[in-house]
Amino acid sequence: MNWNDAHFETKAIHAGQDPEAKTGAVVVPIFQTSTFAQPAPGEHLGHEYSRTSNPTRDALQECLAALEGGVQGLCFSSGLAATHAILALLDAGDHVVAMDDMYGGTFRQFDKVWRRHGLTFSYGDLRDPAVFDALVTPQTKLLWLETPTNPMLKLVDIAALAVKAHAHGVLVAVDNTFATPYLQQPLALGADIAVHSTTKYIGGHSDTVGGAAIVRDRALGARLAFVQNANGGTPGPFDSWLTLRGVKTLAVRMERHCQNALTIAQWLEQHPRVKQVIYPGLPSFAQRDLAARQLRQLGGQTLGGGMITVILDGELAHARKFLSTVRAFTLAESLGGVESLIEHPAIMTHASIPPEQRRAIGISDSLCRLSVGIEHVADLQADLDHALQIAFA
Ligand SMILES: *Cc1c(COP(=O)(O)O)cnc(C)c1O
Repeated sequence: MNWNDAHFETKAIHAGQDPEAKTGAVVVPIFQTSTFAQPAPGEHLGHEYSRTSNPTRDALQECLAALEGGVQGLCFSSGLAATHAILALLDAGDHVVAMDDMYGGTFRQFDKVWRRHGLTFSYGDLRDPAVFDALVTPQTKLLWLETPTNPMLKLVDIAALAVKAHAHGVLVAVDNTFATPYLQQPLALGADIAVHSTTKYIGGHSDTVGGAAIVRDRALGARLAFVQNANGGTPGPFDSWLTLRGVKTLAVRMERHCQNALTIAQWLEQHPRVKQVIYPGLPSFAQRDLAARQLRQLGGQTLGGGMITVILDGELAHARKFLSTVRAFTLAESLGGVESLIEHPAIMTHASIPPEQRRAIGISDSLCRLSVGIEHVADLQADLDHALQIAFA
């Protein structure tokens, strides 16, 4: 059945997930097999070898393609493996323009791996789309965007940048991990590739690592599928199944993540020990007009996602004490699970970015990143309140 005309919530549960043909199993089975019997040499029933294709992974790929409004989805063993496959489409000598504030591991791969293979990179604050004009060169082949960014929650105007990039024949990839396709649809806004760490909201339960790339052009999909098979960074059947199980509830989880995060962001903004709160759903958010245009609206409110960046009063020692005291929030890297997490980007997730560059982006020693889960919001708020009291006692 074609679910393209269905609503997001319906696609999440049904796209790529028809009852299994042979047994009628309602849930896509875990086809835990490396290979598939062939009736005669060179003839097969749709699958030959699980690196190339596997029915459980196919179901996830089809579902993610439907959710992003693309024609093809490709899944990988991690978000960074998806990134690697996309960069592997380029040739030595090609140039990439990227946002100056992005996931630390993406920057590390660009800077420490791909540069050695002859790719060159220019980074800029693409909140101003005109910055792209200054960075693009005749060698530019890819524009790499992340929006909202990690951890400063900067937004970039995907539609405006896609028009500019396409005028130069430059492909546009958008890391849509923070927003998810429920809140933001990069392909509909003109991007060529939506990229995910499915480890985060798409899986949603902090129990598996994975990645995905979704495209709206069949030829690009075929090139990426070639790299997926040739490089081999694919997810196993069980990880694909866990991710597919998570994705079914993406819409309801995101609504609650957004609702809880807005409540906490508003409360933190009033807290005497808090210097600044960055949250795309707040009226004080610097780019609230772009947020309203680019992110989903619900009841006249911009759904700002589940991530909050908070800059505390005081020094590193206060932030350390605060982070060591929280209990409902778990001190851990990663984000996007049902449980609330908190972390310190300068020491943890973004330690691989040189200190000067970190400071230039605004990642100070009193900056904490919250991934607001779907626990009861009153418990989350009480936990933060208690930890702030202890930290500043
Ligand atoms: C986690 C993350 C990645 C990397 O994904 P992995 O699954 O950890 O490889 C990329 N981009 C963003 C925004 C992320 O949060």
